[in-house]
Amino acid sequence: MTLFDLGEFGFIEQLRQMASGAAPGLAVAIGDDCAIIEVGDDRLAVTTDAMVEGRHFRLDWLTAREVGARAMAAALSDVVAMGAAPQYSFVSLGLSPDWPAERALELARGLVEQAEAHGAGLAGGDTVAADQAFVDVVAIGRCREHLWLRSGAQAGDGLYVTGALGGPAAAVAARLAGLEPGACWERYAHPQPRVREAAQLEPLGLVHGAMDISDGLVQDAGHLCEQSGVGIIIRAAQVPVHAGVAQIAERLRHDPLQYALSGGEEFELLFTAPPGALAELQAAVAIPVHQIGEVVAGGSVLVLDETGGEVSLPSTGWDHFRQRTE
Ligand code: ADP
Ligand code: MG
Repeated sequence: MTLFDLGEFGFIEQLRQMASGAAPGLAVAIGDDCAIIEVGDDRLAVTTDAMVEGRHFRLDWLTAREVGARAMAAALSDVVAMGAAPQYSFVSLGLSPDWPAERALELARGLVEQAEAHGAGLAGGDTVAADQAFVDVVAIGRCREHLWLRSGAQAGDGLYVTGALGGPAAAVAARLAGLEPGACWERYAHPQPRVREAAQLEPLGLVHGAMDISDGLVQDAGHLCEQSGVGIIIRAAQVPVHAGVAQIAERLRHDPLQYALSGGEEFELLFTAPPGALAELQAAVAIPVHQIGEVVAGGSVLVLDETGGEVSLPSTGWDHFRQRTE
């Protein structure tokens, strides 16, 4: 059996079973967007996220500064997904000695700018030579009163999402096909971790279960189901699709909805809260919030169209060992 057969999540599950998870103060171990570590009266949310040249970024598509900013955004997004406030970051870089020094410094600039824009001062890291560049970011945040866990979803909750989906996946598809990605490119090249929105939503105390969308809406909703022991119904007609997606989908004869259902690297918040909470949630933040479905007892993720029929899913999301399955 190869890792392709086992899949990224099969591998992580076996790894999780090897680790006892027993360490003083380790309140949440492998399985959520961050680990939660209790230190005195504080709780810290800690995550690490790696990006590899050729897999996660192409230097002919993005500037080195954008690569740095995206890598930091991805790690901060996991801190935000716990309802926590980013505080510190560490960065390990693997860079080729052939690189122009200016490019490496621009990558560093992107990392530092993104970290400081969100209050996560760069506190250290490591630098090594590598044939293929990689960036690994550790981000640490301070938890607030309400901890947002993937295991917090309750049957009867509504399922909510910030922003609009499908932009990054459509942008990549357009570039691969030699098309102009238009407005979707911004979503791909400059993702925004929802730091401010988490700070605004947390005090409401309405969020039950939460995560960020990094691997695709349907696949990530599946993690909420597994961790919470619930099922999720996604109403396809209510899923907000980014305005730039339709044009790309039309040119590529692709269903725009599928980019929104399975596209990764969105870094939007996917969360559950009481069913009537939309108005209160929306009033707290400046970006759109949509209710896209509901949480039910048991089961898994079901995507339904307006007639109640099941929407077929050629791909549910990203698996690092399987690439995109579409
Ligand atoms: P995210 O997309 O939110 O970054 P992942 O899908 O990458 O989350 O990881 C899921 C969970 O598995 C996380 O809790 C993460 O810490 C854990 N995990 C992933 N890879 C490893 C690894 N190599 N060692 C230990 N834990 C891991
Ligand atoms: Mg995450």
